[in-house]
Amino acid sequence: MPWNNELHFARQQDDEDPLHRFRFRFALPHRNGHPLVYLAGNSLGLLPLKAKQYVEEELKSWETLGVAGHFEARNPWYYYHHFQRETLARVVGALPEEVVAMGSLTANLHFLLVSFYRPTAQRYKILIEPFAFPSDQYAVASQVRFHGFNPDEAVVELQTQPGLLTLSIEEIVAQIRQHGESLATILMGGVNYLTGQLFDMEVITRAGHEVGATVGFDLAHAAGNVPLRLHDWEVDFACWCSYKYLNSGPGGVAGIFVHKRHGQDHVLPRFTGWWGHQEDRRFRMEKTFIPQPGAAGWQLSNAPVLPMAVHRAALELFDEAGMDLLRAKSERLTAYLEFVVAEYNKTFPQWRLEQITPTDPQQRGCQLSFRTGSYGQQLFEALGHSGIVCDWRPLGDDPQAGIIRMAPVPLYNSFEDVWKVGQALHECAAALMNPTA
Ligand SMILES: *Cc1c(COP(=O)(O)O)cnc(C)c1O
Repeated sequence: MPWNNELHFARQQDDEDPLHRFRFRFALPHRNGHPLVYLAGNSLGLLPLKAKQYVEEELKSWETLGVAGHFEARNPWYYYHHFQRETLARVVGALPEEVVAMGSLTANLHFLLVSFYRPTAQRYKILIEPFAFPSDQYAVASQVRFHGFNPDEAVVELQTQPGLLTLSIEEIVAQIRQHGESLATILMGGVNYLTGQLFDMEVITRAGHEVGATVGFDLAHAAGNVPLRLHDWEVDFACWCSYKYLNSGPGGVAGIFVHKRHGQDHVLPRFTGWWGHQEDRRFRMEKTFIPQPGAAGWQLSNAPVLPMAVHRAALELFDEAGMDLLRAKSERLTAYLEFVVAEYNKTFPQWRLEQITPTDPQQRGCQLSFRTGSYGQQLFEALGHSGIVCDWRPLGDDPQAGIIRMAPVPLYNSFEDVWKVGQALHECAAALMNPTA
């Protein structure tokens, strides 16, 4: 595809885009009456308009039924986690029984590690990606300590070559083999939050299983962003949040995946609560816990119905759009952003945005991350003033240098949005070079 930096070209792409209409199913943020170009869906996805109606319905049930809403509400709260299970399963490539919407991401990660990180004196290491999200690092280190090991020895980070932030699948597999039988668990992001690199989860899972480790993924930046086939890839466990690409609202309900082969395993240790107990017997208040089969058996507490109502509305849009079309648009939209930034770099090499996200579409979702020199923070702030919403992560010793992350999200971003990024970059750099003009 020969890309082009003209507005009419961008608009033509939007006209031909079968998913363009989904943009109008979301609340698009404004500032002082001006629309913003929102490229921060990797941090917090936008509000699906239908969510308000779904939440209203549950508030109405609560208002009119009180506790009877557990069974008499139009969507009985007692079974609320059933209502998004099928869609969720399609989004992550699982069987319905392998997923459940529950709790919050970091807490779920702990619960899953309780079951799947079971170190012994010989096999005790947990392998994580470079630049793992801080919460995951804290969770892993505390799990290791909880089992009596020293994180300095038991938490091992994949090593990148000097100066690089990403690494190849060959390097990952080689390092998995190198740790070999000392590896208890591999826990990686599906897509790294900082670099935007999409890892080959199938190959990593196979390599992990070959050395006898369990393999899990934190899909916070992958769920709703890239095609997933967790069941076929034989992944042991996974967890994600719903407020990033799944557009289910700040602090929204998270989700977990437990592969079918573990779903009936009553020997696996787990931390339990009443919502994981056999569903038809739950309200009998029995003493002995009998887990429901599948991921649902990992539930602890009753479903947070209000955030789950948002989640239902948000997930329905994924079914309507379909992951195949979404991925196809995502690849094009991100390639266009890559082009627009490369054009800018040619004009302003002294203010360049160096792309650290892989150029291979198979190794990324929609996010592109760009490394800057010490002009970075200034450029980022100027972009913000011109209505481009993206984010900034300092990196290294120079607080003015860092990484700008931009995520054109195929459900609600347009080619025109991306075109505007190019315009804003040119204007901001010109203004910064010539501040008196
Ligand atoms: C966003 C994100 C989190 C956030 O965790 P919460 O428990 O939802 O606050 C954790 N891990 C990763 C990889 C993330 O991207």
